[in-house]
Amino acid sequence: MFFKIIHFFLFFFICASSFSSNDTKFYGKFIQGGIVIGENSLAKKVFLDNNELILSKDGFFIFGFGRNHKNISSLKIIEKNTEKLTFHKINVKKRDYKIEVIDGLAPKMVSPGPEILKKIKKDRLLIGNGLSKSLVSNIFPLSFVKPAEGRTSGVFGSQRILNGIKKNPHGGMDIAAPIGTPIKSSADGKVFLAEEDMYYTGNIVIIGHGHGLKTMYMHMNDIYVKNGDLVKQGQEIGTVGMTGRVTGPHLHWNVYWYKTKIDPELLLLISK
Ligand SMILES: [Zn+2]
Repeated sequence: MFFKIIHFFLFFFICASSFSSNDTKFYGKFIQGGIVIGENSLAKKVFLDNNELILSKDGFFIFGFGRNHKNISSLKIIEKNTEKLTFHKINVKKRDYKIEVIDGLAPKMVSPGPEILKKIKKDRLLIGNGLSKSLVSNIFPLSFVKPAEGRTSGVFGSQRILNGIKKNPHGGMDIAAPIGTPIKSSADGKVFLAEEDMYYTGNIVIIGHGHGLKTMYMHMNDIYVKNGDLVKQGQEIGTVGMTGRVTGPHLHWNVYWYKTKIDPELLLLISK
């Protein structure tokens, strides 16, 4: 009798869950610079603003919003079997970024010479190639670790206005730490780029984690990985340095969802 009851409940549970209404869970914040993991076991296809997202076999998907993302996005979910359509209207919260105005600076007369410009162009090409690689992974990245211990010395989105000229917003998180401090991969993944001696970024590593997600590590001292290596979350990939254009030792850490820069602080907040 007891087993019959258990069977009944199991049967009921299975039926109930497979026929339950379209219930999407979200982990993360709908905010500029934010990254969100969605979960819907009934989903067959998911679209963000009409772009199809990669869906894991368990129904997980990931999407992000850039620094200046517009107020509203829409998420469309098509269910398996029933083809039922669900729309989620997403209000993306606007942020105020730190703006630093510095006037009265002596104008810089030195601009990079042709040799350096050639080098900068070559570096940009390599970084662009690294960022456009993709990884098909069966493992869905659900948690991320801070890549180095240290004080946060620069935040995502901040911008300096020097003598009235707007500089590029800061696209990542700066972690100040002594030279030689270990740098760990934020999640499992594959090395998309490991390159030394870039003019601006110094020694640099890009790791792909699947689902369009990538992390980038700059100004490194040592690099312990090479292109194509598979890495585990927390694996040491190198050390903090002050290579490239820097004023002191630190790790500049970038997070990308496809080509969109995401706030690393918000990536660390996702916990699942
Ligand atoms: Zn930085």
